[in-house]
Amino acid sequence: MNCPYCGHHHSKVIDSRDVNEGIRRRRQCLGCGSRFTTYERLQSATLFVVKKDRRREEFSRNKLLTGIRKACEKRPLPTGAVDKLADDIEAELYHQGKAEIPSAVIGDMVMERLKNLDYIAYIRFASVYREFTDITALKQEVDTLLSAEAEVSQPTSQLPLLPTEELAGIAKSRRRSRR
Ligand SMILES: [Zn+2]
Repeated sequence: MNCPYCGHHHSKVIDSRDVNEGIRRRRQCLGCGSRFTTYERLQSATLFVVKKDRRREEFSRNKLLTGIRKACEKRPLPTGAVDKLADDIEAELYHQGKAEIPSAVIGDMVMERLKNLDYIAYIRFASVYREFTDITALKQEVDTLLSAEAEVSQPTSQLPLLPTEELAGIAKSRRRSRR
């Protein structure tokens, strides 16, 4: 394992712990002293991704991670959020126990999680993955997000215009005046 900073071949392990059916090792480069992390995990049975043009390609966690990273670039996300997202998806894929999985299914899984994480990252990912061909399709997606947002936040963010007692009083006087 070469140092990602200087390419040196040797590093020492300064911490190691069990995580998600694997081992996470914190290493320090013996060349430049930089610290980096490696994961050791059991190689699961090979999983193939079936692409849109029906070609099959071995599932690559790196490729998945690259796509998510690109969408999340410069977004204020907690450290490790992107790796965790990729880990979750990878784990779920292997747990399904299938030999092949359509790329669209993986894309949907990413979208679903990004939606909960960061809207901008979600829109970026969607614009590549869904191949928005025009601004209208993009706007539709944004509108959907905004209306979902409004539905969730309405009950808490909107205060009654008048205190409840006053409203009750108005209702009463209206009823009276109708008689
Ligand atoms: Zn180094």
